[in-house]
Amino acid sequence: MYKCILKDLKNNLKPTAGLLEHLLNADELAWLNIFKQADEIRREYMGNTVHIRAIIEFSNYCRRKCAYCGLNSTNGKITRYRMQPEEIIATAIEGFKAGYRTVVLQSGEDPWYTPEILGDIVKEIKKNTDLSITLSCGEMSYDDYSYLRKCGADRYLLKHETADENIYSKLHSCGTLENRINCLKNLKKLGYETGSGFMIGLPWQTGETIARDILLLNSIPCDMAGIGPFIPNGNTPLRDYAAGSPLLTKKAVALARLVIKNIHLPATTALGVLDSAEKNDVFSCGANVVMRKITPPKYRELYKIYPIDLGEIKSIKDERIDLENAVRVLHRNPL
Ligand code: SAH
Repeated sequence: MYKCILKDLKNNLKPTAGLLEHLLNADELAWLNIFKQADEIRREYMGNTVHIRAIIEFSNYCRRKCAYCGLNSTNGKITRYRMQPEEIIATAIEGFKAGYRTVVLQSGEDPWYTPEILGDIVKEIKKNTDLSITLSCGEMSYDDYSYLRKCGADRYLLKHETADENIYSKLHSCGTLENRINCLKNLKKLGYETGSGFMIGLPWQTGETIARDILLLNSIPCDMAGIGPFIPNGNTPLRDYAAGSPLLTKKAVALARLVIKNIHLPATTALGVLDSAEKNDVFSCGANVVMRKITPPKYRELYKIYPIDLGEIKSIKDERIDLENAVRVLHRNPL
């Protein structure tokens, strides 16, 4: 049965949630084959390049209350910081000089950065570098997204987090799935390369939820999707829930690759936090992107969405060289 579904996916037949769930539940032997096919589709549609993107986490202030996230506004246990525009611009320029071609500017939903301030940061980075700019600053109005696009922003990353309305509303007292999806559609309409994504292992999630998550990515349709395991953060309401499974995360990445063949799929940082062997391995079952923090070291410790061991901190340039070498070890070409 699973072989028929794989064949249909290869021939671009649109799957149902039920068929995807069936694949998720296939046995270990079947999965060896499914991973292999996802890797082949990745090579056929995306080549052997691994895109290395720089990420600057420029503010950990957030007005929202997402139950899983350490930045949520009810967490009084973290020290909050904001990078000044000049500091963000200087960091992006340093990243460009170190060889990066894309920078992601990410933050909590922090209204201190008005669209005008963000727009000026984007324009200044564009003036001084050839960087593609991805923004990941949460939900905004159509007009604000439109303004930022005109200022030069190329891409926007806004994960839908879960495609199940019930789970979404239990985890977000501060927003609706409908608005999240509307934002993604607006971004797409405005010509942004649009990234979404979801977490694996959220409370109440089932195989059917994951299947619907993948179908939602396809319906927007997204150019990129970050799929990573949920990691409990001790300072959030979800502190006592178990982390998501790395293997299930890999399976979701492989299915996303099989369904949306030309989508960019990062090996998410969260996957490396739980198990760096799995993180490397995810490159062999569909992933083709990786992000590297270039946030100034004094802030990295404070951007605690979930607990993370930052390892040895080196210069932006040396950290990039290390990552390029790690990609080459996997017989892939860093870009
Ligand atoms: N404010 C921005 C950026 C959010 S943080 C926005 O709303 O889009 C980036 C991502 O981290 C989130 O989209 C979420 O998928 C992920 N994240 C947050 N808490 C997490 C946790 N405890 N475990 C794993 N991933 C988490």
